[in-house]
Amino acid sequence: MTIQSPRPAIRTTCPYCGVGCGVLTTPDGSGGLAVAGDPDHPANFGRLCVKGSALGETVGLKDRLLTPRIDGQEATWDQALDLVARRFSDTIARHGPDSVAFYVSGQLLTEDYYAANKLMKGFIGSANIDTNSRLCMASSVAGHRRAFGSDTVPGLYEDLELADVVVLVGSNLSWCHPVLYQRLAAARAARGTRVVVIDPRRTATCDIADLHLPLAPGSDAALFNLLLADIARRGLVSETPDGLDDALAAARATLPGATGLPHSAIRQFLDLWCGGDRVVTVYSQGINQSDSGTDKVNAIINCHLATGRIGRPGMGPFSVTGQPNAMGGREVGGLATMLACHLDIENPAHRDAVQGFWHAPRMAAKPGLKAVDMFRAVEDGRIKALWIICTNPAVSMPQADRVAAAIKGCGFTVVSDMFATTDTARLAQVVLPATGWGEKDGTVTNSERRISRQRRTLPAPGQARDDWRIIAGVGARMGWADAFAWDHPADIFAEHAALSGVAGALGGDFDISAHAGITRGAYDTLEPFLWPHSARRRNRRFFADGRFHTPSGKARMLAIAPRAPQPVDAAHPFRLNTGRVRDHWHTMTRTGLSPRLSRHLAEPFLELHPADAARLGLAPASLAKVTSPEGRAILRVLVTDRVAPGHPFAPIHWTGETAPSGRVSALVPGTVDPASGQPASKFAPVAIAPFAAA
Ligand code: SF4
Repeated sequence: MTIQSPRPAIRTTCPYCGVGCGVLTTPDGSGGLAVAGDPDHPANFGRLCVKGSALGETVGLKDRLLTPRIDGQEATWDQALDLVARRFSDTIARHGPDSVAFYVSGQLLTEDYYAANKLMKGFIGSANIDTNSRLCMASSVAGHRRAFGSDTVPGLYEDLELADVVVLVGSNLSWCHPVLYQRLAAARAARGTRVVVIDPRRTATCDIADLHLPLAPGSDAALFNLLLADIARRGLVSETPDGLDDALAAARATLPGATGLPHSAIRQFLDLWCGGDRVVTVYSQGINQSDSGTDKVNAIINCHLATGRIGRPGMGPFSVTGQPNAMGGREVGGLATMLACHLDIENPAHRDAVQGFWHAPRMAAKPGLKAVDMFRAVEDGRIKALWIICTNPAVSMPQADRVAAAIKGCGFTVVSDMFATTDTARLAQVVLPATGWGEKDGTVTNSERRISRQRRTLPAPGQARDDWRIIAGVGARMGWADAFAWDHPADIFAEHAALSGVAGALGGDFDISAHAGITRGAYDTLEPFLWPHSARRRNRRFFADGRFHTPSGKARMLAIAPRAPQPVDAAHPFRLNTGRVRDHWHTMTRTGLSPRLSRHLAEPFLELHPADAARLGLAPASLAKVTSPEGRAILRVLVTDRVAPGHPFAPIHWTGETAPSGRVSALVPGTVDPASGQPASKFAPVAIAPFAAA
């Protein structure tokens, strides 16, 4: 008798948040997967949160798109790709390269992202490729570039474990980056790390907070200006970055009243932050999703630059990304404002270098349309052909109703997705079946710059194809077969790594040229690694030596004049905060497949302060109609003093099909941060009333 040994588990990476946990997967023999945390992955050391643990429950074929469709009818791949290539080529020929656009996703693998960016910027010749990561971390990118001269995250996750004080600002780490929260909580238990949470809401993260500062919404820059002024008062300014004097003058002009916090609470915060060197300030969407998000990022970074608390163990500003590959998208230039490998689209030498490397016939010569502007251009007809890849903007974009109408009215819309049932796919003329997590091979980069493999465990269902292969098929049909002649994602990764060497020679931070020419065997066994990784550089942290990537080599401090969010009005007197819940992801196309994940919070809801609920006549668990100038949602009322009066909260995940109807992004205005183009998703002016069914 032969005893079969069990199949070895395949090492891959979780597709949800930016922590980027390593996952071990084993096919269960009936189309599903057994899932466990990878004890050897440096992001999670075996831990998984509830979303990652439930991954095996989300890989079934329910509602999967298995063949291409044209106008709702099944089609062959040749028919579909021929049509997409012809319509894009015709549109470009008649109206120019800027008449077409790609809207992509921080859920794409780096190789997919690379292919899309190469096709749009180097061959079509437009920079009209933007991403749902614009909604996630664009303000951090802009803030990094202003302060450091490059989009570089200075530190590592382990810095949260080495710090004496960790400040979490605009970050519900417990629900949105749960494994990083677990690491912090363990460090706090072991070392007595002091934790400060700065958030208008009393979130689950406050469970480990030594101090919670429920500041006035949008007043984060004022609070960090007060900190900077206090740093100077205590004689803790140890560095001389450019702009120090102006930044200090702006900080000294800031009044404590702007924060809405009592003096004693502000004093406790200043004492904690200034009490020792080892301080990490973590920030996320509560900072980024604001019409002054970039200024808030720079107000935080200013304090670390002035004190030299950056790039050394246990200290630094730390932006944590929402999505699994928001960072990878930045590396390949998958934003309308960047070139590949963090090169500068407005720098002619950088454009020439990328064009030369790609042997591209033309090159985008200016930044393209950022997400909100892109859909405005679809709406007014400037964009005549749109390809949406791996994302659901008809639910997730601010002004979602307006965006859905714009997509519907676009001359030609293509959607690549796992499902034809998303609100966005239903609006497209051509729908292309894409592989999903568990079925595709590639790499992702997490919030600490660690590149990890996602590995194929399951076969592609039906005729589904990898996104890079779909994009390459269109590029070849548009006349550029040689440039898109990859056979395997390892070929793309090798090309990406080689291009990063060109960027490194130009002074760029993103240099992984040690992997240029990687073989498929080496790609298959690639271990998680931090960038940069080249013959020249392999530093783990950045900037401890005081050298930055600005022309002067010095960091830049910004003079920040704090701005309050746009005012509410009498017709819309509440300021709605939006965000995630613990167990769902984005528009729930995958986490919605797991009944277990819906047990935590089963339907869309509105957190409302008891005083507001009483004034509006809204009982707990009743239905509220929430309206803004942009749209409406019907939400279950959850009365709680976790939110402040006048500042309700609602999660972003549910679509319009559920009852209650929770399409919360339809309420959010299209207001953006002027520096980053990131929408102000945490500040929607709304009216609230009891819902009476018709
Ligand atoms: Fe996945 Fe994030 Fe949970 Fe890790 S913390 S298992 S990356 S959702």
